[in-house]
Amino acid sequence: MKKLTKYYYGNLFTPETNALLAIMLPILTPAMPHYVHTFYSELMDDESTARFLSNELVEHRLTTELAKWLAQTFAPKTAEEMVESLRFQQRIGEVHARVEIPMSLVNSAMTIIKEEMFKTMVSSDLTDREKVRSVVLINRILDGAVSLINDSYLRGKVQNERSTLEYRGASSAHELALEIERVKTSLYNWMTRKMVCYFSGEEIFTNSVYANDFGLWIKHKFPLICSKPERYEKVINCLDRADILRERLNERKTGEEGRKEMSDFTETLNEVIWLLTDEADSSLAKESKQDALTHLLERRFLNPILQQETKLAIQSGSSYAIIMADIDNFKQVNDQYGHQVGDQVLSTVSKTIKEKIRLTDYAFRYGGEEVLILTPELDLQGAADMAERIRRSVEQQHIQLGNEQGINITVSFGIAVFQGHPDFLHLINAADEKLYEAKSAGRNCIRY
Ligand code: GH3
Ligand code: MG
Ligand code: MG
Repeated sequence: MKKLTKYYYGNLFTPETNALLAIMLPILTPAMPHYVHTFYSELMDDESTARFLSNELVEHRLTTELAKWLAQTFAPKTAEEMVESLRFQQRIGEVHARVEIPMSLVNSAMTIIKEEMFKTMVSSDLTDREKVRSVVLINRILDGAVSLINDSYLRGKVQNERSTLEYRGASSAHELALEIERVKTSLYNWMTRKMVCYFSGEEIFTNSVYANDFGLWIKHKFPLICSKPERYEKVINCLDRADILRERLNERKTGEEGRKEMSDFTETLNEVIWLLTDEADSSLAKESKQDALTHLLERRFLNPILQQETKLAIQSGSSYAIIMADIDNFKQVNDQYGHQVGDQVLSTVSKTIKEKIRLTDYAFRYGGEEVLILTPELDLQGAADMAERIRRSVEQQHIQLGNEQGINITVSFGIAVFQGHPDFLHLINAADEKLYEAKSAGRNCIRY
């Protein structure tokens, strides 16, 4: 055995340590809630961490999860149980990477818990020799577990970074330019509509720029695709400014003052249009980020995008939904008409989905014939309405096959809405469960 591997968590649980743990656990276990409590109250006092823990649900959940982690980490283990325990520690690292909990937080958690555990052992009735052995073992177990968590955390982080960069780098210039063109048109139409309202005295400028599809697009998608952070900053500054001007214009000042504000307003928005044009011009394509058959986003881009949406939702207190769509009895289509027809069906359904979602939504090819739709700033009802529009549209289509005959296809949907949990995997699982319910209920329907 190499010298350092004895510190590896997987090698710590020998018959001797298991025996020692059996003596320690009756002393440690009653104090576990105290460790958890001490850790969280120290954390809640820290301003920089409040952002991760402000949500009640998380507090509630994290408390139980930390307690579970302590119990699992210190339980005596056989060789087989060790394998599961290693996986368990790695999963924690993966979750932390996904949720973007800084590792420094985990490390400080360990310091707090170690200190409390040492105190418990030192004040116990054990012999001095047992106390020393216990303290050394606690130290090794916690260090070993944390280094496993750290490893998988870093692997997860690197993977996420890579996907984000690929998503940005792989946006095809053509695709991006088209999308930007749509955003520009929408912004331009909104601006001119507001001008008409202002001068005709018809309507008040009630809705914020961010309530429009172009505003939402700029808020959600632009940071991911924009090649220059300065450009993104400028666009946001302009939009913020335009929104302030919009409010001032509501006061309907007349004469020179009103005209000045109106021209500031349009100038600011025109600047946004110019900046967007710059972005479209300077973006260069390397490869497509889309799946070749369905033209949906590839699944590998799911993590960075969901991470960003989750962050935005937590920051702004808004919500987003996940719609999971799965073609009904697709195997039968393949079996009856062949794989090629299957492909054609898949491509048609994907096209319908892309047509029915909004500019700000994302559609990913999640599995073979499973599509995950991500809808920022939409509540459950809004998402259900969108799914219903897609469902009906697919149902009404008669997909034409080469030789005159055609087929009808249906799709089932499961929907879940963001509830404040920072790990988006919970949401995907929830949508998946709902999809399963829709399938059990006879297919061609929506469950949420
Ligand atoms: P259900 O209504 O329960 O969803 O029934 P299903 O037959 O659709 O069942 P399931 O979703 O499990 O089947 C997926 C099938 O889709 C299995 C696979 O053969 C097929 N499939 C997956 N990817 C592709 C693809 O790219 N092209 C084609 N033609 N078929 C695919
Ligand atoms: Mg299916
Ligand atoms: Mg499926």
